[in-house]
Order: sequence, then C-alpha cells, then structure tokens
Amino acid sequence: LPLENDLAIKNIAQLVTCEPGLSDSCDDDADRIGLIDDACVLISQGVITWVGRQQEFEKRGLPAAETIDATGLVALPGLVDAHTHTVFAGTREREYEMRVGGATYMEIAAAGGGINATVRDVRAASVGDLVRAGSRRVRSMLRRGTTTVEIKSGYGLSLEAEIKMLKAIRRVGEETGVDVVATFMGAHDIPPEYRDHRERYIDLVVDEMIPAVSEQGLAEFCDVFCEEGVFTAEESRRILHCAKDCGLKPKIHADEFTDSGGARVAAEVRAVSAGHLAHATREGLEAMREAGTVAVLLPGVSIGLAKPVFADARGMLDLGLDVAIATDFNPGSSMVDSLLIVSSLACSFMKMMPGEVILAATTNAARAVGRQDEIGSIAPDKKADVVLFDVPDFRYIPYHLGGDIVRMVIKNGSMVFDNAQDCL
Ligand SMILES: [Zn+2]
Repeated sequence: LPLENDLAIKNIAQLVTCEPGLSDSCDDDADRIGLIDDACVLISQGVITWVGRQQEFEKRGLPAAETIDATGLVALPGLVDAHTHTVFAGTREREYEMRVGGATYMEIAAAGGGINATVRDVRAASVGDLVRAGSRRVRSMLRRGTTTVEIKSGYGLSLEAEIKMLKAIRRVGEETGVDVVATFMGAHDIPPEYRDHRERYIDLVVDEMIPAVSEQGLAEFCDVFCEEGVFTAEESRRILHCAKDCGLKPKIHADEFTDSGGARVAAEVRAVSAGHLAHATREGLEAMREAGTVAVLLPGVSIGLAKPVFADARGMLDLGLDVAIATDFNPGSSMVDSLLIVSSLACSFMKMMPGEVILAATTNAARAVGRQDEIGSIAPDKKADVVLFDVPDFRYIPYHLGGDIVRMVIKNGSMVFDNAQDCL
C-alpha cells in the first residue's frame, strides 16, 4: 500500500466491484457482481489501491489526502461502450421518419439515405469537424457513466477518408479524456464507386488500407460487416486474416439480419468480439465460446430500426458465452449514446438480469476491447474509473429508463462530472 492515497471514496452504500472474489456476501446474486455494502475505495495516482468495508478502512486508519462522501450512493466501475460508430458527420432523422412511416430499405436508399449519406458527409468533413462533433457526443456519454469507448472508422471508405476518420477518433480521446479504443472498419460497406467491382475494393482494403493503418499506428482492432449484401464470410475471413498479419486484432459484425456464417468466422479468426448476433446459429455461438470471442449485443438497434428483433441473450448466457452490451451509437440504426438506456433494453427485451447487464457493460465489455487487465472492475491495480449513482439499489439502474441518475463520474482518479455542480 502506498504511504499516501490521493482520494478515498467513503461510505458507499452499495459498491458493485464486478469482481466476484471481492464480495463478502453469502448471497449468490451479490457474489456474482462482487457486491460490498457500506464500502470504501482508495485511489493513488489514478489507480485503485484498496477496496473494502468502511469499517475496515476506519479500523486500519488508512490515509487519504481527499475524500468523497458517497453516503446513500451506489458505485459501479466506469462503463465500457465496446461497440460504437460515434465519429460521423451529418444526421439521418428524415430517414428515421421514413422508416417509422413504413418505408423499406430500398425506398430509403432511393431517397438518398442509408450509409451512403453518412459516407458523403464524412468525406466532405474536415478532421476538425469530425473531432468537434465526436467530442461533443463522447462528453455526453461520459455524463452517462461511460469512461471507455470503442469507436470505429468506416464512413470514409477510401484510404484518405478512413485515415482522416482514425485521426479524428484519436483526437476525440485526447480532447475528452475518455479512453478511446480505435477500430479500423474500411470493410463497413462497398462504396458506391466500387459497386460494380467489389473485389477491387476488397483488394484496396487488404493491400493498402490495412497496411497503412497499421504502419501509422492508428487502430488497435479491425472490424468487418459480415452480412448478406455487404461482405461474405469468405471475404470477411480474408480481410480479418490480413488484419491479424498486420497486427490488428479482429472484430466482426455478425449475423445481424440473417445467418451469414459470421459467428463461425469470428471463431475461426479468434475474433476478440462479435457484434449483433441476432441470427447466429447455436453451432456458431458454441464455436465462439471455444474461441473465447465475446458476444456484444446491441439492443439499441431495435429502436433505431423500429423493429423489435433481439439477440438471444439468455441462450448465449446458458451456453456460457461472455456477453457484453453496447450502444452501437451511429446515425443510421442506433442513435443512442447512453449505455444506461441500453441496459434497460437488455433487461426488458432480452431478459438479462440487472446484475448480468452490469457485468455486460463493465467486465465483459472490457474483455470485448481487450482491456480486462486495466478496466471493467473496481479492484486493486485497476484504473480508478468509478461512477456514483444516486439510486437506492443497483437494480434501480436499468429500472429507471433514461433517468438522470448519475451523481458523479471519476476518471483516472479525478472527478470529471459532478451532477450537483451541473444542475440548474
Ligand atoms: Zn456497428
């Protein structure tokens, strides 16, 4: 233990550590989420040094320079949004209106909507435009408890525009203080100019984009949209193998609208995570479990697409898969930046239990971005990312849909949001 701690968060009514070993409760539910009642967390230089009961903290007389009194509050690890497209230009509310009115995908595309609209806007935007818009969105996520966010490129779809997006993604992290995990997603769609020779676009991704992104150190992961009408299983396999050879870790958008073999590709390339999975086969999911691929479920898409289709979260949990939840924040299919709202959707529509959704937005989400050793739980040696909620019980968090319940956000041991200071 260091001689001096910078900060003690004291008198926490319920501390959800998300570390099963840290709970001293004999209740199974409490144990799974590592619940400690009347707890204290000590922090030194942005890192957690000690976690335990308030009584124990007082008995030992542990020193701390500053204290936060969390009487009546519930503490969770900083939330990890493991799948987003948060950096984009332009919005598509007209398309949403058309969809609510019953328009088909083809009608929306014919009216100039769909992903091509965002590609057009991103190509026309400067890095500065993208950084400003992206930072504003990420600050809004931070106020809702998200302290780490994965952001994908994939609206540039040319070497130059993809690099521009990735530079903007990096700067959003620098400007907001939120940890940003960058993912290259040149294989988000075939751009209009390559419609009639798709294989040439895939060559461009493999031969030029991936090597350039890797050389410039602009991304940690590479993602592919494996879906009927986008990239086939075979094409996805090729792109992700190439990414691995260049040192980018594989991720995949799999089986969102149909079973396109995406879950199996995820397992074959040992993807760190696979997103969507609403139509994945049992065989594919079992292969993912064996490969250690995290299933990232995105129920916000059902709101954006105005279609109540959800992944089989219970089936996946029963199979023993690691399940994470994320916003998939993007202007087309999921205009939701709050993991808290997504946690409510996960409970009500995918029948995940409140304790399960908390693990899905913290430890399992950290695993989905390969950061499980640094973040995702409140335990010694982890980053001091802590969210304090003004709620009576952890189960209240998904229960109060869209509620203004975040009291404070602590990032790397510093308070970055205080709702009491912020209020009118
Ligand atoms: Zn996505």
